[in-house]
Amino acid sequence: MAGTTNGYSCRRCLRPIHGDRGLHEDIFEGMHLLCFHLEFEHPGDPDLPCDDPGCFVRREQILGSKLRELGHDPQAVIEAAIRAEFD
Ligand SMILES: [Zn+2]
Ligand SMILES: [Zn+2]
Repeated sequence: MAGTTNGYSCRRCLRPIHGDRGLHEDIFEGMHLLCFHLEFEHPGDPDLPCDDPGCFVRREQILGSKLRELGHDPQAVIEAAIRAEFD
């Protein structure tokens, strides 16, 4: 996996945290940002958007609708980006 580990793991999922340890301890209670959101801010189904302005699912939906407004197919954009990254 990319990035360096600092021997520090998320309290929620127990996987390594690669970012700044102080930031994660001070702001996200020793969790990944996504884990913090799901634990404290995101009630209900994790696959559905919640009312929090920073919700990851909501952000993805907003980006998708903006791409459609601009005349792009969000799925095609993602697939092209993934091909460019991994092929
Ligand atoms: Zn986590
Ligand atoms: Zn959410």
